[in-house]
Order: sequence, then C-alpha cells, then structure tokens
Amino acid sequence: MSVNIPRGTQDILPGTVEKWQHLERIATDICRNYQYKEIRTPIFEHTELFQRGVGDTTDIVQKEMYTFTDRGGRSLTLRPEGTAAVVRSFVENKMFGDPNQPVKLYYKGPMFRYERPQSGRYRQFVQFGVEAIGSEDPAIDAEVIALVMDIYRTAGLRKIQLVVNSLGDTESRVAHREALIQHFQPRIGEFCEDCQSRLEKNPMRILDCKKDRDHELMKSAPSILDYLNEYSRTYFEKVQQYLSALDIEFVVDPTLVRGLDYYNHTAFEIMSQAEGFGAITTLCGGGRYNGLVSQMGGPDVPGIGFAFSMERFLAAMEAESIEWEETNRLDCYIASLGDEARDYTVKLVHDLRKAGMKAERDYQNRKMKAQFKAADRLQAKFVAILGEDELKENKITLKDMETGEQQEVMLEHFVDTLQKKMEEK
Ligand code: ATP
Ligand code: MG
Repeated sequence: MSVNIPRGTQDILPGTVEKWQHLERIATDICRNYQYKEIRTPIFEHTELFQRGVGDTTDIVQKEMYTFTDRGGRSLTLRPEGTAAVVRSFVENKMFGDPNQPVKLYYKGPMFRYERPQSGRYRQFVQFGVEAIGSEDPAIDAEVIALVMDIYRTAGLRKIQLVVNSLGDTESRVAHREALIQHFQPRIGEFCEDCQSRLEKNPMRILDCKKDRDHELMKSAPSILDYLNEYSRTYFEKVQQYLSALDIEFVVDPTLVRGLDYYNHTAFEIMSQAEGFGAITTLCGGGRYNGLVSQMGGPDVPGIGFAFSMERFLAAMEAESIEWEETNRLDCYIASLGDEARDYTVKLVHDLRKAGMKAERDYQNRKMKAQFKAADRLQAKFVAILGEDELKENKITLKDMETGEQQEVMLEHFVDTLQKKMEEK
C-alpha cells in the first residue's frame, strides 16, 4: 500500500525550495532594516486562544480549524493564523514593559485551515507576518505597509495594487453598525445563513461574504467612510499623507473590511494584477487591532500587522514571469581516476567546502565521462581532475568550464588558487 500526501498540502522539493529561500531571505533582510525581530510561537495553541483572538463569528473559527483533543483531554488547535499567538506571547512575556515601544515582531511558519483546496488555497500554507504593538501613530501604519510593499518590490513584483480603508474607531463603528443593520434587516431573508447570523453579531462581515457579494444591497450599503468621526478621519488622512510621502501608490476602497470587533482604523490588502494569477487575487491582508491586546488579557495597547502567504507570493512571481537568480551553482566538481586518487578527493572536497566553496565529487564510482556529465548538470564553474599520474606528482588539473582554459596546480596550492579564481569571477 502506498500512502499519498494529504489533500491541500504540498511537498516543496529541491529546485523550488531555493525560490522559497530566496523570498524568505528578502523578507527577513527587509524586516531587519525596519527593525522587526523574529518571534517563534508553537504550532498548536489552546483552542480558546483562537476563539477569542480570531473571533467566534469568523469563517476561520466556525469552519476552518484543525482542532483535536490531546491525551490529557485538552482542546488544542493547529494555528490557523499568527496574530493571536503573537499577542498572547506579548501579554504572557510582558513585552508591554519593554522600554523599546512599539514592540516590532515578525514571524514565518506553517498555518492550517480546513478549506476547499484550490489554486492559491491550501490546508497547510506558510505565512509571513509582522506585528507592531504599542503605538497608535499613523506613521507606524504607513511603516508596516511600506515594509510589505518593499518586500514585494525588492522581489521584483510590479503588477500589484495596494488597497486601503479605514474602519474607524469604536464610536464610528457603532454608528456604521446601526446603519448597516437598518440597511440589510428588511431583506436579510435573501442572504445566506451566515449573513443572517452576522446581522446582529457583526453586520460588517456581511460585506465580506463570498456567496452574496453580487446582491444589489451590497453595492448600496452604507460606507464606513461616511461614519468616521473627527479623530478617525484625521487618522486615516495622516496614513494616506504618509503613504504619499513614501511614494507608495494606493486606492481607497470603502468596502474593504476586516470583520472583527477589535479591528479598527487602517485596513489594507495587496492584490496581484498579473494576468493568469488566478481567481484569488489577494496576496496580503493587514490592519490595525487596537482592542486585541486587552481582549487577550493584556493592557489596553494598540497594534497593527499584516500577513501574506509564501504560496501566493511565489504564484505572483511566476505570474509576472520574474527570473530567479541562480544561487545554487557549483563552484567546483572534483573528478578522479583510480582508487588512490578517489580516496584523496574525500579530503580535497572537504577542504574546498571548509574554505566556503560549493564543492562536489563522485560517489557512484563513475567513469571520467560520466563525472564530467554530472559536473555539467550541477553547472560547475570549475572541474578539477585528479588522476594517478597527477597524484604521484602532487598535482591536480583545474579546468575553467566557462573558458575551457586548463592548468596544472600543485595540490598544496589547490584551494588557494581556486579561491582566487572564484573571486575574479
Ligand atoms: P481569503 O479571503 O483568501 O480566504 P483570508 O481573509 O482568509 O483570505 P487572512 O486570514 O487575512 O486571509 O490571511 C492573510 C493572507 O494569508 C492572505 O492574504 C493570503 O495571502 C494568505 N492565505 C490565507 N489563507 C490561505 C490559504 N488557505 N492558502 C494559502 N494562502 C492563504
Ligand atoms: Mg480565508
């Protein structure tokens, strides 16, 4: 019997994994420049964390969690997203007491959601996310957006669009909420069951419904932007002003919502506009969550963050046909002839690696011709050839595979000579 990979998951094989590493390196380097530090939290948490931290009315909590009971009878859940755990850790480790505020964190790792798998939607996917906790300065909203745009731009993405909105503060939200209820109530029967139950609990989430998105009442729904109070309006204007100062283009979309009660002010998404990207165009989602930390038992400190999945990042790169730089080319392949020479290359290949070079030798006892073929497959820049005669004379032949140039080098100078040649390349 053979066992297959579970639905909605994927193996990331050599050849593709280098692309992941490349994008992860860009993201972590940029985080370092912006002074965000990495945090690693567990893959599973108490189920209650997500019920409270993500919210009972969300699709994630209602339909998508991998929840199980462990042998001790605890209800645990494989994390479906990163923010709840980061905020838990912020509170648990009293990071609010750190003299450096806001606390700026990033994370990356697998998330789990029981969804219908399709292109860009997996049951296990890798999210990269950032949280800045402890500041309610619109400049930090702009910084967080600038950071993720910087990651995408540095990777080479051009066909992306930033969409921003404001959800206002609690006062604005309450006024908007009333208007939404009045708008939808008379005809709520025409909406899906989820929307019906959202009407009282969290009517803003109706705007986010995937089933009823084409209903005529959606387009005419009251816009949050008409309900922003003075503070919220000024805050949103400041964020836009800062984005413009950073030369970051954006469009305002008043229908962009993030449905939780403690989400407020800035909400944003980044979409791919590349042809052939597929039906799901959102690359990244983020927003401000000023009530979340206190909801999780901490002091009343504000926060903002975003998350994107590596899978959709990669898909956007492919859709824009961006060239990947070749990082895995071999510096030197050591070919050998005869038992003694073969033995000798065990140490030789090791010396090259210790000197920081990408080196390989033959482990299949192949003929010289097959060894050269292997060197070609690995795109070796140099091939070093060690035969019985050379070994007797303490020499090795070094061939530059790009120019075809060939020279004999004393074995004791081999590593140094090659290193110099590599530097000249
Ligand atoms: P969607 O509307 O696509 O379901 P979401 O609102 O559930 O997205 P968030 O919870 O905001 O998404 O997650 C942030 C980002 O994580 C998304 O913008 C997307 O890039 C990515 N993401 C979410 N779910 C998946 C998934 N199942 N597979 C791959 N990436 C995902
Ligand atoms: Mg989703």
